[in-house]
Amino acid sequence: MSATALSSATFYGRFAREFAEMALPWRAEEGPDPRLLVLNEPLATELGLDAASLRSSGGVRLLIGNLVPSGATPVAQAYAGHQFGWFAPRLGDGRALLLGEIADADGHLRDVHLKGSGRTPFARGGDGLAAVGPMLREYVVSEAMHALGIPTTRSLAVVATGRSVRRETLLPGAVLTRVASSHLRVGSFQYARATGDINLLRRLADHAISRHHAGAAEAEHPYLALFQAVIAAQASLVAQWMLVGFVHGVMNTDNMTISGETIDYGPCAFMEAFDPATVYSSIDEGGRYAYGNQPVMAEWNLARLAEALLPLFHDEQEQAAALAVESLGAFRRQYSAAWSAGMKTKLGLRDGLGDEVTSPLVHELLTLLQEGHVDHTSFFRSLGTAVRGHTEPARGLFLEPAAFDAWAERWRALGPDADVMDRVNPVYIPRNHLVEEALASATGGDLDPLKRLLDAVTTPYDERPDLERYAAAAPENFGAYRTFCGT
Ligand code: AMP
Ligand code: MG
Repeated sequence: MSATALSSATFYGRFAREFAEMALPWRAEEGPDPRLLVLNEPLATELGLDAASLRSSGGVRLLIGNLVPSGATPVAQAYAGHQFGWFAPRLGDGRALLLGEIADADGHLRDVHLKGSGRTPFARGGDGLAAVGPMLREYVVSEAMHALGIPTTRSLAVVATGRSVRRETLLPGAVLTRVASSHLRVGSFQYARATGDINLLRRLADHAISRHHAGAAEAEHPYLALFQAVIAAQASLVAQWMLVGFVHGVMNTDNMTISGETIDYGPCAFMEAFDPATVYSSIDEGGRYAYGNQPVMAEWNLARLAEALLPLFHDEQEQAAALAVESLGAFRRQYSAAWSAGMKTKLGLRDGLGDEVTSPLVHELLTLLQEGHVDHTSFFRSLGTAVRGHTEPARGLFLEPAAFDAWAERWRALGPDADVMDRVNPVYIPRNHLVEEALASATGGDLDPLKRLLDAVTTPYDERPDLERYAAAAPENFGAYRTFCGT
């Protein structure tokens, strides 16, 4: 069969052409025996790609960069980044390549990107590779996030390469084909700034405006407006993470997008028992990126973006800094407004209710959840059931339900709407024990558990009786869950 799916798509190669300083032409490593593990057909359709062709042997080679579509120039992108607070001036795609941009069905440019495609000049000590498990993990979690309505990069496919990857043991290798509205990161701007080439910085900002925040072009100060648009996008994004209990795990500035999409699913996980101190990443010993720290860390990263953009804000450094500080002040207001509004909806409460009524109620609830080690997702979903007259599922989550009963009485007096709640409180999230089970089976060659999990989490609000185990918290013996990055 011919591999017309991607080869007939037009690859614009816009970043590669316009940002040669930050785009190193490179080729993906040959996969000796590529096998398609999972293909996202709805996403393929959205991109105007033919799923049947992508499944052909040529299509699979395209998906891992071994057949380069005509017009495409695969590049490794250069970027810098603060990793756990420390600045690294040269990170870049050590094991990834940007194939190029294609226009989706709505005419928007989308990056097609490979992760796990072999060493590049940015690989440092790394092997440039990725294992099947972590690439499927990104596939599952990113698609779950998308289904939850949270901005994210998407996953088009995971292909096993037939090459082994050495981690603690030998593992089957894979490439993830990722789609994003772009791969511009805070770290991309830090890189441009560190070159000292203000013209490059300005062109990168113009590019970001044209791809993501077109409104900024009309503003009196377009670059300040760009910064403000990124602040707004990130405030909204992180509020959505918090409302659904998502812990990104490695919010380094190279893992924060300019578009406001969630990116780089490494040591991420969904919190089960509500606790702001929740950390999953094995390398995050200080809890820098703990669940409850995420808004503050996002703000910290945005301050680093401001530093990178300063020369574009004003010729006078002091004035530029004042403008940056003033803009950054909006983050807390916007984050709090988005979070409070979202929390009100989770509780089914009318928009018109004032914060003086809802805010104490919300804070008391969070204290109860934390003290009771209550499963975040199950609790909010069961509250909808409580409105419909069955309070037991919610009550049953508390060892001492008396305090919950008192809280619930006050909450019910406000007239919550169960239908509104069921549209925002998911039944199914990619729970850690289910993800691990699916990845272990897939690594051993059985993809069925992965497909069942994907089925549950890509329709997260729609409760199905046969999927009961996908809605339940991890069994006690699952223990303290840890994830690892860079795998
Ligand atoms: P991450 O923690 O996945 O965001 O990656 C941080 C940096 O390490 C990026 O520059 C990656 O390209 C690089 N990196 C991670 N894993 C590998 C690997 N196995 N080989 C080469 N580079 C890697
Ligand atoms: Mg990264």
